[in-house]
Amino acid sequence: MRCPSCGYLESKVVDSRAADDGASIRRRRECLACGARFTTYERLAEHPILVIKTDGSSEVFDREKLMRGLLIACAKRPITPEKIDALIASIEAELRNAQRTEIKSKDLGDMVLARLAGLDEVAYIRFASVYKDFQSVEEFSRALGELG
Ligand SMILES: [Zn+2]
Repeated sequence: MRCPSCGYLESKVVDSRAADDGASIRRRRECLACGARFTTYERLAEHPILVIKTDGSSEVFDREKLMRGLLIACAKRPITPEKIDALIASIEAELRNAQRTEIKSKDLGDMVLARLAGLDEVAYIRFASVYKDFQSVEEFSRALGELG
C-alpha cells in the first residue's frame, strides 16, 4: 500500500471498518515514513487476511512466506511437506471460518505453534525461537514446559 504523499510502502492501519455491506473494507492508514494519513478500500476476495506486526505495520498473509519459515523449522525432522501444507491450510481455514480480516503476527505465530506442538518438539522450539517474541527467559522456559 504505497503512500500517496511520499511513495513509501509501509503503513500502519489506524482504523478498519466494513464498507459496501461488508463486501470491502475501508482502512485508514498512516504512512510510517512521513505520517500522512490516507484511506484505502480493499475487496475482501482480493485481500483475504492482513497480518499486523508488533510495530503496527501490516502485510497481506503470505502462504509462501509461512511455508518457507516452516520448512526451515522442520528441516531434517520427520515432517513431510504435505504435513506442513495441511498445517497452513488448517490455519487459513480457521481464519476464514472466524471471518477474520486481520490477525496480529503474534497470534498467527501462536496458531502455528499450537499445531507444531502436536507434530514435533524440535520444530516447535525452532519456530518459537525465530517467530515468537519472547519477553523474558522465564517466558521461554514456560513455553518449553508446555511441551510436557
Ligand atoms: Zn508517506
